[in-house]
Amino acid sequence: PQPNPEVGAAVKAADRAHVFHSWSAQDLIDPLAVAGAEGSHFWDYDGRRYLDFSSGLVFTNIGYQHPKVVEAIQRQAAHMTTFAPAFAVEARSEAARLIAERTPGDLDKIFFTNGGADAVEHALRMARLHTGRPKVLSAYRSYHGGTQQAVNVTGDPRRWASDSGTAGVVHFWAPFLYRSRFYAETEEQECARALEHLETTIAFEGPATVAAIVLETVPGTAGIMVPPPGYLAGVREICDRHGIVFVLDEVMAGFGRTGEWFAADLFGVVPDLMTFAKGVNSGYVPLGGVAVSEEIAGTFARRPYPGGLTYSGHPLACAAAVATINVMAEEGVVEHAADLGARVLGPELRELAERHPSVGEVRGVGMFWALDLVKNRRTREPLVPYNATGDASAPMAAFAAAAKARGLWPFVNMNRTHVVPPCTITEAELKEGLAALDAALTVADQYTE
Ligand code: PLP
Repeated sequence: PQPNPEVGAAVKAADRAHVFHSWSAQDLIDPLAVAGAEGSHFWDYDGRRYLDFSSGLVFTNIGYQHPKVVEAIQRQAAHMTTFAPAFAVEARSEAARLIAERTPGDLDKIFFTNGGADAVEHALRMARLHTGRPKVLSAYRSYHGGTQQAVNVTGDPRRWASDSGTAGVVHFWAPFLYRSRFYAETEEQECARALEHLETTIAFEGPATVAAIVLETVPGTAGIMVPPPGYLAGVREICDRHGIVFVLDEVMAGFGRTGEWFAADLFGVVPDLMTFAKGVNSGYVPLGGVAVSEEIAGTFARRPYPGGLTYSGHPLACAAAVATINVMAEEGVVEHAADLGARVLGPELRELAERHPSVGEVRGVGMFWALDLVKNRRTREPLVPYNATGDASAPMAAFAAAAKARGLWPFVNMNRTHVVPPCTITEAELKEGLAALDAALTVADQYTE
């Protein structure tokens, strides 16, 4: 790509003058002006290229600008750019069929939304209407989206500013052995104690008041904590015993990220409702949705479902989903993510951890990994405090800057860096990124004690 700093400067100036950015103090950010992207890379107007270890916000599972998906979007735009949701439209019908074919169990009806947060909103509404119960249980260390109900079930600091609407939400602790809330020393203990804690929470809340339990199958932004064997099956059993709707949020973990079509497949668990977005079409056009079980769909067979969106199942977004799913199937993208994760990424990250005192724990699966960075491996004190800002977060900022200086765009959240490249990344690209990560970690190491 030809550098074009003047255009870059104009893009940046208009952004700074008029774009109000999410989750940010507007005067304290410095967004990079991006000129283009392809595959696992993007570049700026000065001609600097970056290998994207963040997949945007963990959504470009097939990389940027996949030619078959771009072409499918162009074809759909030429044929039928948009149409209202009450009609049967080819792209929407086909997207729903392809998704339903891959979702576990009897999750065979698809309610389309514009993204992940509204998928969670609708899943919780369906659960409350289906059960006639008011409350929802969700986990600390979770993220479910930025709209009112989705942010209220979120279990991280992004919820705090919007907590006025929390009525009907109760948080509990899900398993996370490295930072156990249960004084556990083994995965078995962590699993058993987390299930007992959930059971007790339900008993004290009143089982007949709980409509739903919502969990990320593998919590993403909160730290990629793969649940121990038996945990999700245990939650399923608790839900069944109490008539509680089990909602799995697969917005980040779904569509190949874990090396399975859905993370639920790693555990053989079938929820009652499953939310998705991001990887469904790699974010080429905004799309999300809820996969609905036969029983819950039955609740709304003769009684109207009170909810909808103007762009539910937007044809352009659905055409992108059809093409994305077909590309993933034809090119073996899910299998590639599983293979590269097990054979290269997991082992090489563990090897990095041995050499870098700042790496407290490596955890993940497929193309979905986290490095938990610490000041001190023995105490496990995080490299920066929970929810640190400004000077307190300087060590993570220094680490990120060191990665970017080496052409690697990292995903950073609190004291963690997540290694979440496109599921289509090649082995050579992955190794190139790991070399840059290795160098950047020496900067993090300087903040250890
Ligand atoms: N659920 C999970 C697990 C997510 O990771 C996210 C976004 O990161 C969301 C929901 C919200 O999705 P969206 O930003 O598309 O509304």
